[in-house]
Parts: sequence; C-alpha cells; structure tokens
Amino acid sequence: MAKTWYPIIDDEKCTGCMTCVNFCPHGVYRENGGKPEVVNPLECVEFCRGCQKLCPAEAIRYFGDTR
Ligand code: SF4
Ligand code: SF4
Repeated sequence: MAKTWYPIIDDEKCTGCMTCVNFCPHGVYRENGGKPEVVNPLECVEFCRGCQKLCPAEAIRYFGDTR
C-alpha cells in the first residue's frame, strides 16, 4: 500500500526554526541547509499532527489530509 500521510513543508512560510526537526520522535525530518527536509516519510505516523501543531509559521501540511 502506498504511503498516504506525511508532512509537506511550505518553504515560503518556513522560518527554519527546526522545531519540527527536533520534535518528531520518528526521524521523519532532517535539517538540510537551514530548512527541514522530509527524509523518512514512511516513518510518519498516520494522522499525527504533532509537528504541525508546534510549527509557529503554519508551514506544515500533510499529504493525504482532506480537511
Ligand atoms: S506528523 Fe508526527 S510522525 Fe509525522 S513528521 Fe510530524 S511529528 Fe513526526
Ligand atoms: S516548525 Fe515550521 S517553521 Fe519551524 S522549521 Fe519546521 S516547518 Fe519550518
């Protein structure tokens, strides 16, 4: 089954604060040139919104999100 839930970063909005990178306990992100990069989308927990809730710039949305 194809992965149906993982974060997508809006680079225009992202300030590079690294809150999401530091928070995610599943290693979905890594820092790359001062911006978060989604390197392990398969590790993202279905319907988790942990990093989205913490992002001060509202720069995180999810592939598979319908709301
Ligand atoms: S939604 Fe949850 S599991 Fe997925 S990247 Fe964010 S904190 Fe990690
Ligand atoms: S928490 Fe938001 S603003 Fe901060 S690095 Fe992640 S996506 Fe960018």
